[in-house]
Amino acid sequence: MDLTFSEQETAFRDELRGWLANNRPDPEPTEAGEEAHYARRRDWQRRMYDAGWAAPAWPTEYGGRGASLTESAIYFEELGRARVPQPANVLGLLLGGPTLMVWGSDEQKERYLTPILSAEEIWCQGFSEPDAGSDLASLKTRAVKDGDEWVVTGQKVWTSGAQHSKWCMLVARTDADVPKHKGLTYFLMDMEQDAVQVRPLRQITGEAEFNELFIEEARIPHANVVGGEGNGWKVALTTLMNERAGLGFLLQVRLRQLLDDAFALAAERGLLEDARYADALADLHIRCESIRLMAWKGLTDIERYGQPGPEGSLVKWLWSDTNQRLTELCAEIVGPQALTAGTSWSYELLRARGNSIEGGTTEVLKNIVAERVLGLPRLKAAL
Ligand SMILES: Cc1cc2nc3c(=O)[nH]c(=O)nc-3n(C[C@H](O)[C@H](O)[C@H](O)COP(=O)(O)OP(=O)(O)OC[C@H]3O[C@@H](n4cnc5c(N)ncnc54)[C@H](O)[C@@H]3O)c2cc1C
Repeated sequence: MDLTFSEQETAFRDELRGWLANNRPDPEPTEAGEEAHYARRRDWQRRMYDAGWAAPAWPTEYGGRGASLTESAIYFEELGRARVPQPANVLGLLLGGPTLMVWGSDEQKERYLTPILSAEEIWCQGFSEPDAGSDLASLKTRAVKDGDEWVVTGQKVWTSGAQHSKWCMLVARTDADVPKHKGLTYFLMDMEQDAVQVRPLRQITGEAEFNELFIEEARIPHANVVGGEGNGWKVALTTLMNERAGLGFLLQVRLRQLLDDAFALAAERGLLEDARYADALADLHIRCESIRLMAWKGLTDIERYGQPGPEGSLVKWLWSDTNQRLTELCAEIVGPQALTAGTSWSYELLRARGNSIEGGTTEVLKNIVAERVLGLPRLKAAL
């Protein structure tokens, strides 16, 4: 892995840096409420799209710049450096679009990719259910064919951003008589129908980032099946691998920002001379750098083997652990203010609790690392 940038990569970085210096997102809205914050992120993505910066890693025929993996890493690092908000359609850009590029028909690519880029149509991920999270293949939401349509009934949970979404990447059971991984199909479900009810779930932070979905005989045209009937498990794996690889990179950049803030905070309070804080910050710095290098290695693997390797699970596990330690240390540095609802440090502290669950729990990721990275024998669960 060579981290020296080529001339072309340096030019890419400078062009983006220049654009970000001249184009700033609107200031954070002062009024309370999630809608105004979301509208700001949507507007920001629209502006990036207009300038051709919404997803440079996408091929040019789909509206991207065909950026190399190194350039896409530079892209995320520069966005982090400029401290701009996350795009509104993060799941469409990082998960949905790349999944369609692999499995979608030409018509689907033509129809869906541009509105993902422009944030005109927001996407959410309808995978988890009350009894199917880590063991996704045991999901029960069922889809039954009716002429040219599928009729879907079931319940999804933890569906982030469903309240803003037009399309849901939905995995449902279409055949109950075959082994559980084989009876699944991947659909694009239109969220704008009465048969789909979105109920917000309020988190410990006070915001309702995710939702329950109640689906009662929703209709999905057969044309919205992605990757073929009964092939849903493979298509879902593409989405999940992109989740761990793409989000992994974004998250490590965000971790660095937070750590820089922690250093500034500790310096402001004269704590850098205190060995206890200095040691803890040094430890976090080393972890943060290791995660950054591992994320870069993950990109090199994609370059070499065409897809992210199981090491992405290691990045996600270490990131969630480090982010939780970091936000706890920051709370100690800030003192009681970090426990006051509504402050940014209380938000970071509380939001970090979900890090070790979302996108694969730490326990499950440890199993993957043990079995698929270290090659240890499979654990036989005690029955
Ligand atoms: C903030 C947030 C956002 C989310 N957004 C989405 C979303 O947009 N779309 C979506 O579909 N889902 C989403 N999820 C759901 C997330 O993917 C699941 O919560 C996760 O996969 C775990 O599933 P579960 O909650 O059903 O827990 P379970 O799978 O029931 O796990 C319960 C406990 O058992 C442990 N466990 C389970 N299996 C094993 C095993 N084999 N070995 C050892 N331990 C095990 C787990 O680690 C955990 O501690 C989100 C979750 C969070 C927290």
